[in-house]
Amino acid sequence: MFDQTQHLQKGDGLLIVDVQWDFCPGGLLPVPDGDRIITVINQWTEAALQKAIPVYASRDWHPVHHISFKERGGEWPPHCIQDTDGAQFHPDLYMDRRIMVITKGVRLDKDQNSVFDDTGFNVQLEFDGVRRLWVTGLALDVCILASVMDGRRLGVEMAIIQEATRPIDAEKGRRALEEMIKAGATVL
Ligand SMILES: [Zn+2]
Repeated sequence: MFDQTQHLQKGDGLLIVDVQWDFCPGGLLPVPDGDRIITVINQWTEAALQKAIPVYASRDWHPVHHISFKERGGEWPPHCIQDTDGAQFHPDLYMDRRIMVITKGVRLDKDQNSVFDDTGFNVQLEFDGVRRLWVTGLALDVCILASVMDGRRLGVEMAIIQEATRPIDAEKGRRALEEMIKAGATVL
């Protein structure tokens, strides 16, 4: 069988979006089968690190009573509160110091679904010489959608590894894929 990770080449980066306890079954805002993607992500991470391709892992990292929570009129139940167990990366996710952590959701005045939203990530990609990002993680219909659309607006090639993502809602996930493809993203 062809090893999909052989697609990785110079000028690429690997993005792992929000693979945290709270977004996996048993967490506070679980994505169905959210933990089933971790083995595939780890294979991509291992291949990327072997080829010295930069790997980025984002985390949702909210202050208590964050503005995105229902208690404040937001969309979500409380989740990924700073320094709680639920906000930690899933323990099965391969992490080491070569993987750059991008923290989002810390702003007190708004939510940050996209990894590009006020994080400076675009500047880091430029510094690392990344022109194409392989995208994995959670959730396909929320933070991945927002990140891929922002990446396209910034002129970054965005390649979604479908077996390495899951949506909160299956139908919204299908629509998100259509929208991202329309914006020029590719799907593996
Ligand atoms: Zn959040």
